[in-house]
Amino acid sequence: MPLTTRLKKSKAMIRLVRPIELTASDLIYPIFIREDGKKYEIPSIKGQNYLSLNDAVEICGKVVELGIPGVMIFGVLKQKGADPSIALQKGNFHARIFARLKKEFGDDLVLISNVCLCDFTAEEYCVYSEKGKVLNEKTAEMLAKIGVVHAEAGADVIAPAAMCDGQVGHIRSALDEKGLEDVSVMTYAKTDSCLFEPFFEAMTHSKTPRKGIDSSKFRTDIINEKMYMQKVELDLSEGADMVIVKPALTNLDLIVKVKERYPTIPIAAYQVSGEYAMTKLLAQSTRVDEKVLFMETLSSIKRAGADMILTYYAMEAAKLFNRWK
Ligand SMILES: [Zn+2]
Repeated sequence: MPLTTRLKKSKAMIRLVRPIELTASDLIYPIFIREDGKKYEIPSIKGQNYLSLNDAVEICGKVVELGIPGVMIFGVLKQKGADPSIALQKGNFHARIFARLKKEFGDDLVLISNVCLCDFTAEEYCVYSEKGKVLNEKTAEMLAKIGVVHAEAGADVIAPAAMCDGQVGHIRSALDEKGLEDVSVMTYAKTDSCLFEPFFEAMTHSKTPRKGIDSSKFRTDIINEKMYMQKVELDLSEGADMVIVKPALTNLDLIVKVKERYPTIPIAAYQVSGEYAMTKLLAQSTRVDEKVLFMETLSSIKRAGADMILTYYAMEAAKLFNRWK
């Protein structure tokens, strides 16, 4: 008699018949490194800490030990500038981060640089704009200059986060011109989401809302898959090596679609700050077990087709996976 319960007979049987498995190799850990060296829990992303550069070296050592192959670096400056050229200054904080981590870990850890104008600008705009229009060329040129600084310092991957058109093409050309052909470009493809807000709170010094033009002018409309795929297509045509789908939970279908249309392109999904905060809140306010919940969400992201998952749960998840080794 046909039965579906045979293959669920035991935990061992369930593991045996799985077509895919989450492993530590799937994970990328995003870390926040403060130039002022202060270490404390990030108020908007409770459970995660700001790190000094020395703390970051210690944490990255643990990341490598756990078998996690990559970290996404967010540098939190002491002071942001009137314009993003602060990012190009000699001995700037981001360059020091990449130089130090590369020296400590060499090829054992993939260093990914998040590059966006808002990391450096006091008004925290992501793109240059004028009269309500995104200045694609001007933004892309600046992102490329910043990308080169980070790559020359030791970043293995440049991840442009501004969502402007031309960002990948400009970064690729600038890297190649400097002989940095082996540095990859991992482009963010983001829907316009409120789930990024805890992250922005973590990156800001300001109590007032971010300036700059409406993000709907450069991120994609959440309900419009065609607009999303158009952006992915453009970035790949400009030379992106990898794509980050962001947020993950609200875009699982887009992970499937990108995988189907571009089967040879590695896909990352970013379980963003808002997804992390929702998970924490649900676990704190109900009987839901936090570990079970984040394993469930990470599994759904992997099943959708992500080859890599950026998650604040990376270290906790890797510890759980490694139990089976
Ligand atoms: Zn930005």
